[in-house]
Amino acid sequence: MSKILTTTNHSRDVAGLKYVYPVLSRRAGGLSIGINFNTNNACNWRCIYCQVPDLKIGVAPDLDFQLLEDELRFFFDDVQNGDFYQRFHVHEDNRVIKDIAVSGNGEPTSLKDFDKAVALIGKLATEAGLFPKSRFVLITNGSLVHRSIVQAGLKALKECGGEVWFKLDSATDEGRALINNVGQSRLASMENLLLSARLCPTKLQTCLVDYDKRGLTEKEKYAYLELLKDIKAKSGVLMEVMLYTIARVSLQPEANRLEKLSLRILNEFADEVRILGFEVKVSP
Ligand code: SF4
Repeated sequence: MSKILTTTNHSRDVAGLKYVYPVLSRRAGGLSIGINFNTNNACNWRCIYCQVPDLKIGVAPDLDFQLLEDELRFFFDDVQNGDFYQRFHVHEDNRVIKDIAVSGNGEPTSLKDFDKAVALIGKLATEAGLFPKSRFVLITNGSLVHRSIVQAGLKALKECGGEVWFKLDSATDEGRALINNVGQSRLASMENLLLSARLCPTKLQTCLVDYDKRGLTEKEKYAYLELLKDIKAKSGVLMEVMLYTIARVSLQPEANRLEKLSLRILNEFADEVRILGFEVKVSP
């Protein structure tokens, strides 16, 4: 039976490959080629809005480099020269590779050979002529940027013109414990963010949720704005701040305590961030 790739179908096994999965991105307006290192559904965080099925605490398993290379070569060729778009009934308007996104069912930078994996993906995508038309993006919770392997990976990403999307959902220790179930301090997160921004162009991605109908509290807003001021004071440069809310149902036990934040609240907060001199994008 032929398959249909839609903007709501985010299954990572739609193409039948282990590491590579296609996503039709409504936000990007085309095809995103995702690469999932965390085939064991393991992450070092447990965000209460996470949509990874059977999420467990852990790290990415060892990578089969040959298989990743074979899958990427096959997939790039299938999309560029084969009948991928026809097989998956992709509308003409969406037949463009918008990005290669290292983003999977867990934290990608927990991979042991993260730097080599990023370099391999960059090399194959370059050989396939995808850059600079397609973006090269790492989506990360940023918690491991202090590691030298991760820093080497960010340098490799930058060499291919790539960018980091660094998750920061709360600037208070209580908020991070609640939303992300992590003990990493605000200071440690900020230092990792500054490091990331120095090594590779970095965007901040912040998922704001309404937990138990608390909305976006003054305390959380204040702490977030203060953190951004600290980033500026330390000469940290962020390409953009991306504010968004939950789009799909969480697969975590807290799912029924979560609601979207309204677009009005997101936009009002975005204006407060803009006043500090940051580019801000809001995705409802
Ligand atoms: S960092 Fe990402 S993969 Fe990990 S728990 Fe949070 S949302 Fe899920």
